Amino acid sequence: MTRLAVRGIPTERAERLRGGGPDANGQPALRRRAQGTMNPCRHCLQLIREGDETLVLSWRPFDGLQPYAEAGPIFLHAQDCPRYASDRLPPWFAHLQPALLRAGGR
Ligand SMILES: [Zn+2]
Repeated sequence: MTRLAVRGIPTERAERLRGGGPDANGQPALRRRAQGTMNPCRHCLQLIREGDETLVLSWRPFDGLQPYAEAGPIFLHAQDCPRYASDRLPPWFAHLQPALLRAGGR
């Protein structure tokens, strides 16, 4: 049986993006104030509080190009936050109906 391992994006990549490094489209992240209450940070997997400074960027979860390596928009806390690492989804995930999970192996 496969065990669930839930992780935020790697800390070194989050730090690079916060420092102005390029996103999946080769552009620096946009800096915005969070609007609404359902903007999950992809590093700590917590919901970003409305009004907090947020990075919006394009993310591709795989290093190399291949058919499943699509890119999409994500949010990050603009300030440092701890990387999520658990065998469970964050509690707020239960409120998403429906929800879609995409898994990858490393
Ligand atoms: Zn965060």
